[in-house]
Amino acid sequence: MRTPPTRRVARLTSFPPDAPVPRNASRKSALLACGVVGATLFALIALGHDGRRIAQLAVLAAPMVLWLAWPLRSARMRRLRTVLVWLWAMGFALDGAVRAYLLDTYQAAPDGAMVLGAAANTNARESTEYLWMHWRSAVVWSGALAVAGVLVGMFARRGAAFDATESSVRASRSPFWTRSLVLVVLLIACVAYASKPWRRLHPAIFWAGWSQSVHTLRAAWADQEKVRDRAMAQARAIAPVALQAGPSTVVLVITDSINRDNMALYGYGRPTTPRLQAHKAQAGDQMAVLKNAWSVDASTLPALRNMFHFGLPESENPPHLLALARAAGYKVWWISNHDDLAIEQQHARLADVVDMVNRTPGRASASLDGEILDCVQEAFADTSTDRKLIVVHLMGAHPHYSLRFPENANPFDDDVDAVETGLVKDGRSAWVRRFRQEYDAALLYHDFVVSELLQQTRSAGKPDEYRAWMYLSDHGQEVGHGSDRAGHSPSTASGYRIPAVVWRNREPLPDGAAQQQPFRADWAGWTLMDLLKLQWNGQMPERNVLGDAYRWQAPKIPVAVESFSR
Ligand SMILES: [Zn+2]
Repeated sequence: MRTPPTRRVARLTSFPPDAPVPRNASRKSALLACGVVGATLFALIALGHDGRRIAQLAVLAAPMVLWLAWPLRSARMRRLRTVLVWLWAMGFALDGAVRAYLLDTYQAAPDGAMVLGAAANTNARESTEYLWMHWRSAVVWSGALAVAGVLVGMFARRGAAFDATESSVRASRSPFWTRSLVLVVLLIACVAYASKPWRRLHPAIFWAGWSQSVHTLRAAWADQEKVRDRAMAQARAIAPVALQAGPSTVVLVITDSINRDNMALYGYGRPTTPRLQAHKAQAGDQMAVLKNAWSVDASTLPALRNMFHFGLPESENPPHLLALARAAGYKVWWISNHDDLAIEQQHARLADVVDMVNRTPGRASASLDGEILDCVQEAFADTSTDRKLIVVHLMGAHPHYSLRFPENANPFDDDVDAVETGLVKDGRSAWVRRFRQEYDAALLYHDFVVSELLQQTRSAGKPDEYRAWMYLSDHGQEVGHGSDRAGHSPSTASGYRIPAVVWRNREPLPDGAAQQQPFRADWAGWTLMDLLKLQWNGQMPERNVLGDAYRWQAPKIPVAVESFSR
């Protein structure tokens, strides 16, 4: 049989409805309730905000906390108050926890461009993968929230009840100083709620606005056709000239989250790149491994914007590389293993042929990069043009790492090697070392895909046809390199250390010494224009790493880098 409702009520409230309450006990208990609820809230606010913001949020949160000190006669009202105070407090708590997490992990605020862009650009599957990768943080923060929730729930119930033993209101009143203090706080709270910038810090208002911004961003991306039309018109006006007579095929392989420090090609201790090394041994001076390659962005969207817009700021209205290539008569393919709205709208749709392999219905949710190889082969086989630019966008080692290689294809989790020993010596946690093994396995599979793409390029067409191939990552990845964590990393150098490799079948590439020169990915456009053999009036030979006039300039990135030549 179910418990009658009245009995449940009696258990929920500390005092049975309308029963007399001892005066002092009630007041003390109410004070304690205010104190504990207030302190819990303050702690969480302080975690996610700093400086003056903490005080501003505390004032915004105060009225509901103070309500606990206001004696209520009706038990129903007290219950309602408990629920409202709990919801209110958890709003502030959740806000504090999310902000603290973003600050700790990405040194970013939720309304910063990076977080907004990532949120707007993430679909449900990616969110799940993200949570799967970062479940430890999720557990920690959920635990903190649960503790806060229990504390607030327990003490919000003890809010002041009306003192029924004393018939006069006066008798149950608090001392003069308490009332004055409460009055002052409430007055400041009135000011806070009257002021628009202050009011906007309230979690409910802030996050409503935040979700609006995400929607606006998505809507802006959803129809970039006009922007693309303008880019094409601009490129036609620039009218780049193709210097290369005869057929020409250029392949650009952009990968994701590959840190060059984990490639044996760059001297890593685990054999993660046997196939690329075999290519290097065979290709000789037709292949250049740029030893000191850097991205200037730690996340995909800005990195790709920079790559295709020559690293020039938006205000300079830089042309788009794909538009220039098309204006010069190249047929452009975009073959991608990403399912990514912003990239598709800002770059991919500028191509003549767009193939989002990952989006094909019925495919396994995490499709491996190898899935794109057939599409690329089709592009090579296309006979409708003799100028081809084939852009391939890979998942690389984008988290979660274990999804980036076939099942049971991790040779690095069997025994303890020098890499593992080094990580232990550096004090890296077991879970970071485990991620490193998976990351390296992802790189080994990646080596297979990238080498296949190079092999396809090397063997395509007639031997005398001009062909070129460039491979680079959008950004790096931290997997216990400089800190005890794994993931995108704007705050450590690992977030920016990328591979960059060039192959072409004509004209030897820069020699060994020149390959030591640092290279920055936001200048990749200048190098690609060289590989495409396009001449245009915006040329900056000092930024083309393949040219004799190349002059390195250190980029401004958010981390201190001892030397870009390492
Ligand atoms: Zn990325």
